[in-house]
Amino acid sequence: MKLYKIKKSNIDNKGRGLYATKKIKAGTKIINYKGKIVTNKEVDESDKYDNGKPIYLFTLNKRYTLDGDFSWNTAGLINHSCSPNSEYDGKGLKIWIRAIKDIEKGEEITCDYGFSFDKDYKQFPCRCQAINCCGYIVREESRWRINKKFSMSQKKRLVNNSL
Ligand SMILES: [Zn+2]
Repeated sequence: MKLYKIKKSNIDNKGRGLYATKKIKAGTKIINYKGKIVTNKEVDESDKYDNGKPIYLFTLNKRYTLDGDFSWNTAGLINHSCSPNSEYDGKGLKIWIRAIKDIEKGEEITCDYGFSFDKDYKQFPCRCQAINCCGYIVREESRWRINKKFSMSQKKRLVNNSL
């Protein structure tokens, strides 16, 4: 049985989200983040990646990026929350979503998209209803920096794990 199901989201009122089908313990891997592996050079050069959708791109290493902007990437439906219960985790060329808190049955699965403040932040209003919600999914100045942040936090975790 899958740990999640797709349902109309409370956070993204135009869209869908993933909901826990049973209690999920902190640390559990919930779903793989599927996509196409492209080179960082392609991301820099292709118009496809110039469309302001940084949330689907993860820099994997110096050479490769995972592009998750596909309808078959169910994990791409996961919404942002300012107080998330899950996070993006990964190793090598794989990314997955891992619970960072115990998640109750019926709760929406959320991650922090990791955007930080810039002048375009109003493009992405946030309706997560967390106490600490600032009202927007703030995004980094450039996609490159967002991705760098992700790969850095990933590295930090891997170091922690090996201790
Ligand atoms: Zn929020």
